[in-house]
Amino acid sequence: MEMKAKQLLQEYFGYESFRPGQEDTIQHVLHTKNTLAVMPTGSGKSLCFQIPALAMERTAIIISPLISLMKDQVDALQALGIAATYINSSLSPAEQNERIQRMTEGAYTFVYVAPERFDSPFFVRTIDQMNLSMIAFDEAHCISQWGHDFRPSYRSVVPTLYQLTNLPVLVALTATATEEVIADIQQLLDINREHVVKTGFERENLTFHVIKGRDKLAYIREFLIQRKQESGIIYTATRKQTDMLYDKLQGQGYAVEKYHAGLSETERQHAQNAFIHNEETIMIATNAFGMGIDKSNVRYVIHYAMPMNIESYYQEAGRAGRDGEPSDCIMLFAPQDTQLQKFLIEQSDLDEAAEQNEYRKLQAIMNYCFTHSCLTNYILDYFADEAKLDGCGRCSNCLQPSEKTDMTEEAQKILSCVKRMGERFGAGMTAKVLRGSKDKKLISFKLNSLSTYGILSNYTEKELTEWIQFLVAEQILATEEGKFPTLKLNKQSIDVLKGKRQVWMFTSTIPTTEEADYNEALFSVLRQLRKQTADEKKVPPYVLFTDATLKDICRYFPTTKDAMLGIKGIGTRKYEQYGELFLTMIQEWLADHPEVKPRVQINSSSPAAPRKYATRSQAEGPSHLETYKMFQSGKSLQEIASIRELNDRTVEGHIFKAFEDGLPIAWNIFFNDEQEKEVLEQHEQITEKRLKPLKEALPESYSYTMIKAVLVKNGIM
Ligand code: ADP
Repeated sequence: MEMKAKQLLQEYFGYESFRPGQEDTIQHVLHTKNTLAVMPTGSGKSLCFQIPALAMERTAIIISPLISLMKDQVDALQALGIAATYINSSLSPAEQNERIQRMTEGAYTFVYVAPERFDSPFFVRTIDQMNLSMIAFDEAHCISQWGHDFRPSYRSVVPTLYQLTNLPVLVALTATATEEVIADIQQLLDINREHVVKTGFERENLTFHVIKGRDKLAYIREFLIQRKQESGIIYTATRKQTDMLYDKLQGQGYAVEKYHAGLSETERQHAQNAFIHNEETIMIATNAFGMGIDKSNVRYVIHYAMPMNIESYYQEAGRAGRDGEPSDCIMLFAPQDTQLQKFLIEQSDLDEAAEQNEYRKLQAIMNYCFTHSCLTNYILDYFADEAKLDGCGRCSNCLQPSEKTDMTEEAQKILSCVKRMGERFGAGMTAKVLRGSKDKKLISFKLNSLSTYGILSNYTEKELTEWIQFLVAEQILATEEGKFPTLKLNKQSIDVLKGKRQVWMFTSTIPTTEEADYNEALFSVLRQLRKQTADEKKVPPYVLFTDATLKDICRYFPTTKDAMLGIKGIGTRKYEQYGELFLTMIQEWLADHPEVKPRVQINSSSPAAPRKYATRSQAEGPSHLETYKMFQSGKSLQEIASIRELNDRTVEGHIFKAFEDGLPIAWNIFFNDEQEKEVLEQHEQITEKRLKPLKEALPESYSYTMIKAVLVKNGIM
C-alpha cells in the first residue's frame, strides 16, 4: 500500500514526494483508522483523501459545506481523468437523480455533497447499499460548535452517519482548529489522538508586511504599477471603501471586480467568475468575499484597512499563494482603522463578556500592526504554534527597511503645535496650522496667532497629515477617542520634545517579486494557452496546471514526454490530457527563439537527479544557480549572503535547489558520515516531522542548516 500511495502521487499528481502531514494521514486512512488532518491552507489537504480513495478503488463521499468549491475540486479531478461529480442544489432535480443513479452503478470514484444531502432519507438509503471507500469531511471545523464557522447542518450529519450499516473510514480535514475544536471533532467522529495529524501553521511562501503612515491609495497605485499581470485581492473594511476603491482603480484602467453583500446575487456571481477565470483580475471586496474561493494563483492580498482580529486576517490573507509560490500579504494601517473596528464592536449585539473578548482580539491585531519583531512569529505565537527562534527572515519587520530618514525635528514641531493648540483638534486642523493655511475656521479660532503657525510651511497639508498619522501609528502621539479624534500628547511625545528620543521614518518599499528565475516570455505564452484551453473546457485555468508547474516548464524547457513527466505537477494522467498540446507549444516556441541557449547541463548520471533534461535560461541565469556557482568556487554561505545581499536561509535554499536540479554538492562541508547517520536515525524515531523536535533530539552542535542538508541529500525534505 505504501508504495502504491507514492505511485499514485507521481502518476496522477506529478509530484515526487509528500509534503509534511500527507503521508501520515494517507497511511492512517489506508489502515482504516478514522483520521483528522489539521494542516494550513495550501499544504495539500486534498491529496490526503484523494490518494487513499484512488488506492481503494471504490466510491468516496466528500462532504463539503462550500458549494462553490465543489465544482472546482471536481473540475480538477476530471482534468486528471478521474471520475468525479458533485450533487448539490445548484443542479436540477433531474440532474441530481441522474448523478445519484450513476453513483449507485459505481461510476464515480469521488462524489462531493453538501451536508444537507444527508437530510434526505433516500440519499442515505442509497449510499447504504453502496461500496464506499471513505467519507471525508472537508472544512471539518464547521462541524464543531466551538469553531468560528459552525454549521448546524454539518453536525447533524453525524447521527445519520452512524445509522449506516456500511460505515467506511472517516477522514476530517481543516486548516483552522483550536484544541477545543480538535477535541470536539475527535469525539464526534471517533478519532483517536494518535490519528490526529497536525502540521505547523506557517505558510512559508507568504510574506507579511505592515505599512503605516502612508497614503493608502497612493501606496496601492504604486503597488499595482509594480505588480502588473498578477491577480490579487484587496480587502476593505466597509462596502463604501470597496465602492470607492473600485471606482478609482477602474477609472485608471485596471481589470478590477468588486464584491460585497450590498450587491445582487447576479452581480456577485459575475464578479467571482471573472476573478476565477481571468489571470490578472484584481478583486476589491469586503470580508463577504472569499469563502469557497480556491483560486490557487492569487499573488497578493492587501488589506486596505485593519480587520477585526488575527483570525480573520490570517484567513483572508491566507487566500494568497495556495499554489505554494511566493506571495505577499500586506496590511495598510491607519489609526482610524481602530476607531472603525471599535465602532463595529459597539454596534454589535454582543453581551458584555463577548464584547470584551472582541476588544481583546482587536488589541491583539493592533499589537500586530505595532510590533517591531517578526510578523510571522507574532501570528504563530497567537495561534500557539511554535515560532522560529530567529524570525522568518522575510516579513517587513525582519527585512531591514532600506531607507530611513531622521525626522525628529519635524516631529518636535508637530508635537509642540499639538500642545499649543490645547490638544483640542484633530490631524486635519493641526496640519493646516503647521502649513500656515488661511482656512476660515482656523482664523476664527485664532490659531494663526500661535508660534507654531506656518512652521512647516514647506510641506503640503497632505504630507503633514501623513506624518501626523505616522506619529499616531508609532504611538508617539495619542488620539482621544470619539467621532472626531483629537490629538493628545503622551509619554513618548514628551520624550521626543525633550530630545530624549529620536524619530525615524522608514520609507516602506513596495515588495517586488523576486527576480524571475524562469523564462517570462514563454510563461506568458503558456499562460495564454492555458487560459484558452480552460475557457474551452469551462474550467478555471489553474485546474489545468498551477503557476508553479508552468514556471517549472519555463525553467527546464522540456521537449520530450519524459522530460515533461519530470516537471513538478505533471503525472502521466495529466500528460495524457494536456501534455502534447503544451509540448507542441514549447517546441514551437523554442524553434522561434534560438537565442535561448542551454546554460547548465544537468548531470543525469547522479542518482538523486531523475531529471534528464537540460536547464536553459536567459542571460544572467537563475538566482539559485548564481549562488551555486559562488558556493562551488569556495565561498561560504555567509560570504555569499553578504555579497548577494540575501539572507542566509535564502542562500541555503538556493544550494539545496541546485542539488534538486541534479548538480553535485560537496556534502562534507555540511556534515560528516557519523552526523548524517545520527540525523537519519533520529528522524526515523520521531513521528512529528517538523524540524524543531528533530533539532531538540540531536546534540546542540547540530545546526538547523546541517539537519536540513542531511534531509535534502536523502530526499526527505
Ligand atoms: P489545501 O486544501 O490544503 O489548501 P490543496 O490540496 O489545494 O491545499 O493543495 C495546494 C497545492 O499544493 C495544489 O496546487 C497541490 O497540487 C499542491 N500539492 C499538494 N501536494 C503536493 C506535494 N506533495 N508536492 C507538491 N505540491 C503539492
